[in-house]
Amino acid sequence: MNTRIFNFSAGPATLPLPVLEKAQKEIVNFRGTGIGIMEISHRSKEFVALYEETVENFRQILGIPDNYRILFLQGGASSQFFMVPMNLLRQQQKATYLNTGTWSKKAIDQAKLFGEIHIGFSSEESTFDRVPGPGEFSVAEGSEYLYYTSNNTIFGTQFQQAPEAAIPLVCDMSSDILSKPINIEKHGIIFAGAQKNLGPAGVTLVIIREDLLDQVAEHVPTMLKYKTHADKDSMFNTPPTFPIYVVGEVLKWVKQQGGLVAIQQANREKAALLYQQIDRGEYYRGHATISSRSDMNVSFNLATAELEAQFIKEALARGLSGLKGHRSIGGCRASIYNAFPRKGVEKLVQFMDDFQRQNPL
Ligand SMILES: *Cc1c(COP(=O)(O)O)cnc(C)c1O
Repeated sequence: MNTRIFNFSAGPATLPLPVLEKAQKEIVNFRGTGIGIMEISHRSKEFVALYEETVENFRQILGIPDNYRILFLQGGASSQFFMVPMNLLRQQQKATYLNTGTWSKKAIDQAKLFGEIHIGFSSEESTFDRVPGPGEFSVAEGSEYLYYTSNNTIFGTQFQQAPEAAIPLVCDMSSDILSKPINIEKHGIIFAGAQKNLGPAGVTLVIIREDLLDQVAEHVPTMLKYKTHADKDSMFNTPPTFPIYVVGEVLKWVKQQGGLVAIQQANREKAALLYQQIDRGEYYRGHATISSRSDMNVSFNLATAELEAQFIKEALARGLSGLKGHRSIGGCRASIYNAFPRKGVEKLVQFMDDFQRQNPL
């Protein structure tokens, strides 16, 4: 394979080509230092400048107020499943979780180790085909926070807006951060593994309201306390320097695209092309109910598993890779994050059309 193909992978996922091309050069020589980006000290003035510029760009792009801290941690989004309750719930304290998919379930399992967990909504019985509509969930009295997963990567559902609650929201935004403008101030904590919309695997973004840093539960190991990392600007220990560098370049790319309003518009158009094709007949069946559809992950089925396997195989032969659905629900899934080009979506729509004609039911 000498040329790049369209990669619909759910994560790690497609990155903007200009970012990769610049990284290719800076792996060898970062900003004229004569040292590669993977080799330079995290305490060097060049890396510290990159770090500060990246934090500042996050603030600008997402509109993050001054009373929030931005952290770059390791351990993936999955480590946040326990770090959040470990830090925010003292013994017997309560939190409410919305159960909208595999990732929410994992977060709930971990939270139960640290407190009393109320499930305010679940779509598990209908294979997580939707998220709650406005007000279609309960919050347990005395909850410290309301936890939700803004985009359910596997099932292809997405909150169209953040749930309303009188307590701070905690959000796993791993698969739709930077895909649209958000209201940070409703949130106590937002976290996101980088490998969907932000950059390579290996760094996890955490945005945390400052006052929550001081309410830490007892017996939290130093490395697992948000405060440890906030006090040292994510340099308590060696941060994942290369992933942070790439995230920084992705942020510059987002700005060049016109910021989150322009990005959202492009994402909506890409997703609409696919949903229109799905809705054209009975041949392709979308997994998510219409009002819960995700602009990031489009999950759908064909009539049989055999037909799905053939679809995925023939798509690959046309340079459309990564369309196999998650092993937990099977079927097909097209992940079309920010950096996924519209051209690739158009090519998939054309392929869906051709495949249907060549394989009538
Ligand atoms: C991918 C994903 C995760 C898991 O991320 P890791 O970094 O692999 O731990 C968690 N939540 C959501 C919504 C995801 O899409």
